[in-house]
Amino acid sequence: MRAEIIAVGTELLLGQTVNTNATYLSQGLAELGIDVYFQTVVGDNAGRISQAIELARTRADLILFTGGLGPTQDDLTKDALADYLNRAIELHQPSMDKIVEMFTSRGIHMVESNRRQAHLIEGSDPLMNDAGLAVGNGLTEDGTHYVLLPGPPREMKVMFDGPAKAWIRSVMGEERKLYSRQLMFAGIGESNLEEALIDLINAQTDPSIAPYAKDGEVAIRISTKALDQAEADIRLDATEAQIKARVGKHLYAREDIPLEEAVIRLLRASTRTLASAESLTGGLFAQLLTQIPGSSGEFAGGVVTYTNMMKHKLLSIPMSQLEGTDAPGAVSESTAALMAERVRELADSDFGVSLTGVAGPAESEGKPVGLVYFGLAERGKQTRVFTAKLSGNRGIIRLRAAKSLMYRLWQALSGTEEN
Ligand code: ATP
Repeated sequence: MRAEIIAVGTELLLGQTVNTNATYLSQGLAELGIDVYFQTVVGDNAGRISQAIELARTRADLILFTGGLGPTQDDLTKDALADYLNRAIELHQPSMDKIVEMFTSRGIHMVESNRRQAHLIEGSDPLMNDAGLAVGNGLTEDGTHYVLLPGPPREMKVMFDGPAKAWIRSVMGEERKLYSRQLMFAGIGESNLEEALIDLINAQTDPSIAPYAKDGEVAIRISTKALDQAEADIRLDATEAQIKARVGKHLYAREDIPLEEAVIRLLRASTRTLASAESLTGGLFAQLLTQIPGSSGEFAGGVVTYTNMMKHKLLSIPMSQLEGTDAPGAVSESTAALMAERVRELADSDFGVSLTGVAGPAESEGKPVGLVYFGLAERGKQTRVFTAKLSGNRGIIRLRAAKSLMYRLWQALSGTEEN
């Protein structure tokens, strides 16, 4: 089934109101397995609404309207569609009773135009409005289904999710629904991921494979149309296996969670704990972890040792390590290792991690912008140090640094570490 959304309202054309209803409806229709091919916006003008209907009929089986169901003279949608279909307007008595009762209970005088909110196009099914007064309509003519919804998003959502969806399902019969699965990747950029899968992406229409970038991670959504979850899973499993065969080592979750949540879950599953010492990220790594509810069970805490003095005072790193012509400096492998080890000892945790580097915009200690060292100290094991040369502005370098360390930690915890 192909759908078109027609949002009615001059305020939308003037740019005074953002057409959030169309976004909401498109998402909801996708979940029902209905393809939305067009979204139209038209002003409060009967002639142009009529033109929009004329065009939509040629390219959609389901036309959804939002807006223009109110009481005033510029609320024209019902009248315009009724005229177009040559149908009369009727009064829907239960909605009228509700309107009268609302006015009576509030002691407000009801004006005649409020009756318009109880109007139904002849032969249509009423879609009850549980969040407002205007009744919605669902009707079918010549194989085209029409759904009329109110404009205010609060009312529109309640009506769409309730009676309108039920009405649409009833006219769809047993159609296939869209089932999706989200695969989350880290340690690989969006373009590299796409390149590794490009032939699959191009060849595959069902399930479809769509990569998209999130904050510091990359997601792939695989989607298929099926009668039920079991049928969908057969196809989604097969496509997932093809993807895993190529880039499986970067796959950290099969649901939409950030990498730090995957790290917390792995720590929890193995009852291990973590502490962090940060320099260039200024607490961002700790911030990512503490966004995950309940992470205090796994994340003991972190220190931000931004200056050399604080690295010395809080982590007992000798000044001779940090300063002087022959010293390795704050941005160095050995400082990263010491920071990770000292914070692990301080917290008596299973892991201690560290970040030290140059976020920019200027180089520091003669070291280039984007150079970052990560320390990973683990109880009973040799401390590992990783290096990265990150690109981007200051904010991006800091985020990428935090996420890169998160990825190293995930590798250590999931047993996928490379030597
Ligand atoms: P009312 O009874 O309030 O007149 P209505 O069904 O006639 O409702 P409109 O008059 O078209 O709807 O719009 C009412 C308000 O709802 C608008 O001022 C606007 O703020 C909001 N609105 C309308 N259409 C949309 C849309 N497509 N997306 C987001 N908001 C919308």
